[in-house]
Amino acid sequence: MTPQKPVHDSQYAAQMDADDPLRHFRGQFHLPLTPEGEPQIYFCGNSLGLQPKNAKQYVEEELQDWASLGVEGHFRARHPWMPYHELLREQTAALVGALPQEVVVMNTLTVNLHLLMVSFYRPTQERWRIITEEKAFPSDQYAVASQARFHGFDPENAIVEIPLGEDGRFSSDTIFETIDRHRDDAALLLLGGVNYYNGQCFDIAGITAAAREAGITVGMDLAHAAGNVPLRLHDWGVDFAAWCSYKYLNGGPGSTAACFVHERYAERPDLPRFAGWWGHDASTRFAMPPHFHPMPGAEGWQLSNPAILPLAALRASMDQFAAAGMDRLREKSLQLTGYMESLLFERAHPSWSILTPGEPEQRGCQLSLRVREGGHDLFRHLAAEGVICDWREPDVIRVAPTPLYNTFDEVRRFAEIFHAFFADTD
Ligand SMILES: *Cc1c(COP(=O)(O)O)cnc(C)c1O
Repeated sequence: MTPQKPVHDSQYAAQMDADDPLRHFRGQFHLPLTPEGEPQIYFCGNSLGLQPKNAKQYVEEELQDWASLGVEGHFRARHPWMPYHELLREQTAALVGALPQEVVVMNTLTVNLHLLMVSFYRPTQERWRIITEEKAFPSDQYAVASQARFHGFDPENAIVEIPLGEDGRFSSDTIFETIDRHRDDAALLLLGGVNYYNGQCFDIAGITAAAREAGITVGMDLAHAAGNVPLRLHDWGVDFAAWCSYKYLNGGPGSTAACFVHERYAERPDLPRFAGWWGHDASTRFAMPPHFHPMPGAEGWQLSNPAILPLAALRASMDQFAAAGMDRLREKSLQLTGYMESLLFERAHPSWSILTPGEPEQRGCQLSLRVREGGHDLFRHLAAEGVICDWREPDVIRVAPTPLYNTFDEVRRFAEIFHAFFADTD
């Protein structure tokens, strides 16, 4: 797909914003302001999503109910705390293409990866390796290495990294070759569905099919995919997945994460797992029986009663997602990011290139700009001009125009600010 050539003036961007069926969602979020009181160009939703304005009310309701009811709030709050996590079930399932019983919100992301690997990384003398991608997010690297070590394997030997190509991307051929090469000795494949660094979106359906056909269990870290790209976890047959809620999902700093366990494991009390009372069969939980019997589905992996306040904030955001719909969000996202790409390429400069794949189906909203020279200066220039994005060592600036609250005009202004830096340095 070649992006159609847009008209690159402020009228064009203003028209795109006026025609945008999702334009009213921007008003539902708090936008950080410049010292002059203007909204900053916030392209950092891939790192910490903005606060939905209704989050405060949702959280305050729980604070009020706690104040007025104390422990009774577990059953008598407007939204009783006992089954509170269930309020997020349907929307979470819809977001990732899962059945309701395949998902649960709980803990934080890295914790969930560990809990799921307890069940789904079951190495044997024949099959012990973990396939992951080169330069995976550090927390994921530490998690898989520590799991390998926990089972008595040397991570140097147990972990197989899918190598990055010269162009800084992962080629399909290399991914499928790596799976094939390890069809007899890999126990688990754990990938970031959208790579946090280069913004590449993997062919999760194809990779899952190939790995499972090779007898390899498939786990996905969807920190950069959830709320960014459409997902069909159930249909694709992914074994398990986990994601945080504070990036694209706008759940608030450190808010509660979620996980997915495929239906095929719904009734598997025999699977080894770390247990806690909240994963125990809800009908007998308070009888406190001596033996653990897990709830069916993903809920059977819960340990503790969840923190209500972050879940309240997350509900506020998930209501926005449900109202906007992932399909419409993706449609706008393709336009926004395509617009940014074409504006940037209008004035190419040898100092920078785009690391993220050019094929829209191989990326989400983020573009990773590799800046060979003057990257730090460029980053400071963007910040001084009111653009919030981030810097990743050694030479990458990540910009993520998100469809819920960013506009075409912000993309246009960003490109202008970006080009001005190179015009000034030439
Ligand atoms: C953001 C992110 C994390 C963060 O993990 P937490 O446990 O939420 O601190 C982990 N993995 C990936 C791929 C991420 O993008």
